[in-house]
Amino acid sequence: MTIEIINTGSELLSGSVLNTHQQWLCNKLFQLGYRVSRQITTSDTAEDIKTAVLDSINRADVIITTGGLGPTSDDRTRDVIAEIFGRKLIYDENVAEQIKNYFALRKRHQPESTKIQAYVPECATVLQNQFGTAPGIVIEAMVKASHQPRKVLLIMLPGPPRELYPMFENQVIPLLKEKVPPPYFVSKIIKTTGIGESKVEEIVGEKLKPCEKNGLILGYCARVGEVDLRLEAFGNDAHKIVNQAEQIIRESIGEYIYGEGNQTLEAVIVEILKKKGLTVSFAESCTGGFVSHRITNVPGASEVFWGGIVSYANDAKMKVLGVKEESLNKFGAVSEQVAKEMADGLRKLAKTDFAVSLTGIAGPSGGSPEKPVGTVYIGLSCKNGTVAKRNFNPYDRLTFKQVTSQQAFELLRRELLKIS
Ligand code: ATP
Repeated sequence: MTIEIINTGSELLSGSVLNTHQQWLCNKLFQLGYRVSRQITTSDTAEDIKTAVLDSINRADVIITTGGLGPTSDDRTRDVIAEIFGRKLIYDENVAEQIKNYFALRKRHQPESTKIQAYVPECATVLQNQFGTAPGIVIEAMVKASHQPRKVLLIMLPGPPRELYPMFENQVIPLLKEKVPPPYFVSKIIKTTGIGESKVEEIVGEKLKPCEKNGLILGYCARVGEVDLRLEAFGNDAHKIVNQAEQIIRESIGEYIYGEGNQTLEAVIVEILKKKGLTVSFAESCTGGFVSHRITNVPGASEVFWGGIVSYANDAKMKVLGVKEESLNKFGAVSEQVAKEMADGLRKLAKTDFAVSLTGIAGPSGGSPEKPVGTVYIGLSCKNGTVAKRNFNPYDRLTFKQVTSQQAFELLRRELLKIS
């Protein structure tokens, strides 16, 4: 089954509104076992909408459009689609009544222009809009694509998110399940960090080829500081195929895998710390509190997170964390020695089981041949001793913070796994 989404709206193409419908709808459909094969964004013009819909009709079994159902002159979706399917627009008493009630309930005058929304294509199904005046419209039709008659289900949804979301959840999902039941589908996302996308593929790519022959759909998704592996399969053997692939991946790159699905590395850290009854604190220089920010995004972090110190200046490193002036002069603020002293000093101050420190050169200036921009030391202090790791993250300042914080969490995760 082929599903396509057409998002209409010139504001989406000018960049003034982010096309969040695309992500929201794809995600909802994906969770139900449907796969969207194409998404297009068009302007509000009748010509563009017509081209997009005619194009989709050639391929898709289900077409979902968003936007352009309102009462204003730039809302043309309904008229264009009615014309494509050769359906007249008919005045629907029920819809007219609903629109009237919508305004009456809010004690607002009904603008004349809203009456046009009571006209819907003949033989269409109307989806009620509890949060606005534009009804959703469903057209089922036989079309001729590549000389073959084929059934198409076209669903028009309003643009405003507060109207679209409930309409989709309450009316479109049951309709889709009834008209085009989803195939049995299994999907799993395996999350890794500390290894690049190409390296992942180099290690697991060949080994997964037999699974792919059996129907595994494999995808790699690289994001800042992490790589996801997406495993999908359709049909009765879907579970078996995905499980086999997961086993191969875990055997090959298990040490880099930190979670599954929507889990974040910081959430995994909080979970492990909670389970083991341990606590952590952070001493941040170059990341300016980013690591602490990330961990406090996790609900329940207060059980395991003491707090963070942003010790940006040397003075702060000395006064708050007890870093020796001698070490700063001899090795520099960005050094293994200072990273270790920061972590040790913080652990003493916070009395946490773990203290992690970060000191580096985010750039664009401040580098040297021995320590170029992007150099960072991450220290970790715990009862087993203190270590500091040198990394090289030559990115813009925000990406530097994201990657560095990821490495700090990963250093901590690996240390935590050693503790039973
Ligand atoms: P109305 O004209 O009655 O508001 P409509 O169905 O004609 O409804 P649009 O005019 O296309 O919808 O969109 C209304 C508002 O909804 C837009 O201004 C925008 O803020 C939001 N919107 C529309 N499409 C999207 C989208 N794809 N992603 C995010 N927001 C959107």
